[in-house]
Amino acid sequence: MRVAVIGGGVIGVSTAYYLAEAGHEVAVIERYGNVAQEASFGNLDLMGPTSALRNWTVPGLPFRALSMLFSPESPIAFSSRFEPAMWSWMRRWVSECRITRFKQNHHRLKALADYSGQLMAQLIQTHDLDFQQRKGSMLMFRSAKDLQLARPTMELLGESGTAHELLDPEAVRQIEPALSAETEFHSALHVPEDMAGNCPLFVRQMRMLAQNLGVEFHFNNEVHSIRHQDNTVNLLIDERTVEVDAVVIAAGSDSGRLLHGLGINLPLYPVKVYSASATVQEFEMAPQTSIFDDTYHVALTRLGKRIRIAGCAELGSSTVNLHKKAVNTLVKVADDWFPSAANYRNANFWCGTTGMLPEGVPLLGATPIPQVFINAGHGAGSWALAAGSGKLLADVISQRETEISQEGLTLSRYSEMKN
Ligand SMILES: Cc1cc2nc3c(=O)[nH]c(=O)nc-3n(C[C@H](O)[C@H](O)[C@H](O)COP(=O)(O)OP(=O)(O)OC[C@H]3O[C@@H](n4cnc5c(N)ncnc54)[C@H](O)[C@@H]3O)c2cc1C
Repeated sequence: MRVAVIGGGVIGVSTAYYLAEAGHEVAVIERYGNVAQEASFGNLDLMGPTSALRNWTVPGLPFRALSMLFSPESPIAFSSRFEPAMWSWMRRWVSECRITRFKQNHHRLKALADYSGQLMAQLIQTHDLDFQQRKGSMLMFRSAKDLQLARPTMELLGESGTAHELLDPEAVRQIEPALSAETEFHSALHVPEDMAGNCPLFVRQMRMLAQNLGVEFHFNNEVHSIRHQDNTVNLLIDERTVEVDAVVIAAGSDSGRLLHGLGINLPLYPVKVYSASATVQEFEMAPQTSIFDDTYHVALTRLGKRIRIAGCAELGSSTVNLHKKAVNTLVKVADDWFPSAANYRNANFWCGTTGMLPEGVPLLGATPIPQVFINAGHGAGSWALAAGSGKLLADVISQRETEISQEGLTLSRYSEMKN
C-alpha cells in the first residue's frame, strides 16, 4: 500500500520504518524542515523499565501539584484561569490517577514499554546505533511522604521483575558522589537497567534507516485536513490534494485537530513541557546516572558535555513563551542536586507541546474511518514506547498478527469506559 505518515517525530519515524520493513511504500509528511522538531526534540532522553512509571497519571500527583500551586516552583503551572477544555481534561486526569485506574493504565503501558525495549535492543544491535546511551536511574524521594506516595509504583516494578533497590542517602552518594551534601533527602530508588540517550539523534538515525528502506520524507509540508472517499484517502497538503491508500496520524499535539476534522473527538489536550540544556563546567561534579526528582516530577541526565533537565507541565497555554514558574522549577531541581556541575541560569531553555490523554496511555490502531490509523496521545513519556507502537501499528496495517495484545491501546477503550 501507499501509506502516508503525518509527523516526523519519534513516533512517526518509527512507524514509517516498520511499515517500510513490512513492504509498504511509505512517505513521511512533516511540516518542519527536519525530523524531531517538536516534543521529540526537547525530550529528556530517559527510557527503560521505569519510563512507563514516570507518567503524569500517577496516584497523589494531582494533590501534590495543587498543594504546590502557590509556590514559586511546582510540577505543574497554569496559564489560564478558566478554560473549559482544560478543566474538563483535568477532571478526567484526576479520576485516572485513582489507584485502580493507575494499575490498569500501568499494565497497558508496561506491556508496550517492554515490547518497545526488546525492539529497541534489536535495533541497536542490528544497526550498531550509538545515540549517547547511558545506563541507570535514581528516583529521589525528598521525604518519607514522597516515598509513601511512590509505593504503588514500586509494587508494580516488583511485580514486573524489574531490578530495583531502595537506598539510603549514604548508599545513594556512593553511586552519585557529586550529589549535593546540602540537600537533605529520605531515600532513592536505584534502577540499574534504566537507560538515557539522545532522542533527536536516535530519530535522525532512524530516518536514515527508514530512507535506506525506501521511505520518502517530505519536509515543509503541512497536512491541513484528511478526507476519505471511494476507498482512498485524500490529504490536503498546503495547496495540493494527495491521494494515498492509507494514512497514519502521528502528528503529536496536532493529532487532535486532524482527528476532529474527521469527526473523531478525543480528550487529547495540548500540554507544554519544559527542558533546559546546560554546558557542564565541572565534570566531576556532574551526575553519573539519570536523576528523577519525584517531588517536582523533574528529571536530569548527562548527555556528553551537557546536562539536560526536563519536566514541569504547563496547562492552558498556546504560546511558546517560557513560564517563569517552569523555568524556576528546572533551575531549582538542578541546583538542589548538582549545584557545581553547571550554571543552570544560563542554560538553553525550551518548551514544546505534547498531546496528552488523561489516562496517559497512547492510542494506536484503526479508527472508524477506513484506512485512517492513529499513533497518537503519546504525552510526556513515549520515546520509550516508540519502537513498540510503530511495529504494532505496522502489523495492524499489514493485517498481520500483532506480537502483543492491542487490548486497552485502541479507540475502543473509550466505549469500554462508558459501559
Ligand atoms: C520536555 C520533554 C521531555 C520529555 N522527556 C521524555 C523522556 O525522558 N522519556 C520519554 O520516553 N519521553 C519523553 N518525552 C515525551 C516524548 O518526547 C514524546 O512522547 C514523543 O516525542 C512524542 O513523539 P511524537 O512523534 O508523537 O510527537 P512529536 O515529536 O511532537 O512529533 C510530531 C510531529 O508531527 C509534526 N506535525 C504535526 N502536525 C502536522 C501536520 N498537520 N502536518 C505535518 N506535520 C505535522 C510536527 O511538526 C512534529 O514534528 C518528553 C517530552 C518533552 C516535551
